[in-house]
Amino acid sequence: MIKLLILVLLGFVGYSIIQGLIRPKDSRGRKMPRSRSQEGEQMVEDPQCGTFLPLSDAISANINGRQQYFCSRKCLKEYKKNH
Ligand SMILES: [Zn+2]
Repeated sequence: MIKLLILVLLGFVGYSIIQGLIRPKDSRGRKMPRSRSQEGEQMVEDPQCGTFLPLSDAISANINGRQQYFCSRKCLKEYKKNH
């Protein structure tokens, strides 16, 4: 009976160790978006001139219910003219 109790305890300790090993991976995963924004963030294509630029530098506009991104206001104006 005591042996069984020890086994259960060992199993529980082993389980909490495994959980402890999984958790740091989760916190690393949480850090990922930060490093992503530092290195190379999401790139968007300007549909007017075809230029790829980072999302934070793009001018976003909702055209015909679709979110579009432009490199400049000039491109946005030109695109709006044609659509
Ligand atoms: Zn452009």
